[in-house]
Amino acid sequence: MRTPVDPRTTWELPAPGAMPRTADLEPLVTRVLAPNPSPMTLDGTNSYLVGAPGSGQAVLVDPGPDDPAHLAAVEAALAARDARCVAVLVTHHHGDHAEAALPWGERFGAQVAAADAGVAGPAGRVLEPGERLALAGTVLDVVPTPGHTADHQAFRLESGAVLVGDHVLGRGTSVVTHPEGDVLAYLESLRRVHDLGPSALYCGHGPELTEDPGAVLDFYLAHRVFREGQLLAAVVRGARTVDEVVADVYADVPRGLWPAAAQSTRATLAKLAAEGHAVVDGDRVSLP
Ligand SMILES: [Zn+2]
Repeated sequence: MRTPVDPRTTWELPAPGAMPRTADLEPLVTRVLAPNPSPMTLDGTNSYLVGAPGSGQAVLVDPGPDDPAHLAAVEAALAARDARCVAVLVTHHHGDHAEAALPWGERFGAQVAAADAGVAGPAGRVLEPGERLALAGTVLDVVPTPGHTADHQAFRLESGAVLVGDHVLGRGTSVVTHPEGDVLAYLESLRRVHDLGPSALYCGHGPELTEDPGAVLDFYLAHRVFREGQLLAAVVRGARTVDEVVADVYADVPRGLWPAAAQSTRATLAKLAAEGHAVVDGDRVSLP
């Protein structure tokens, strides 16, 4: 098994912690980084303002944590764009993306839209896969990307860039959660975004990927296949529980990330079990 090579290792990406708080990525898009860095959220959550220049409007995608400093930064970015927020879109229900959606939606007088009815709220709008949203002088296509979570959606912009939430991260790889996530759906979603031929991936965490987005998606697909092989090899070597598999496969990863690794491992084992390549009984793992 050859370890898939991450194409980003040769790219000039900002070092962890070195991303600017606010950045204009293209005429349509401003990114505002929330002050919530952690091993799971990397540099913090990226919130995006999307709107045609001169429209006086912007859509806020993934408002992030309900944090006063972040709100002030988003409002400053809106002012710099001379825009008011006309809608709040959310990629998925995780709190680091969705927490501020309802309070800020109310503050801005903007409707909240998401795939998850709980995130959209009672006055919100539940988005359907494939929907085209005409907002803020531009259009955003709703791209279903289940896998990380069941409700995950990406948004394709008129420019060809795709706001991918936690489907693809600016650094490293993403987690397929368990039991909500689904590895098969995740792989299909990676191919779906790949087929769009994105001009850029604007990630929920970490730097934007503009150099060769397709290569990153290829790496993500190869990485999943590689992990499957590693999990099975660990079982062959004698790992008999999910924890033993994680300890084997993720030996070189900081232990603080092992709970997330265990989720991805359980999700991958569920796929392997469904395909008849492994037997999973609670925490016990064996070969068929
Ligand atoms: Zn997430």
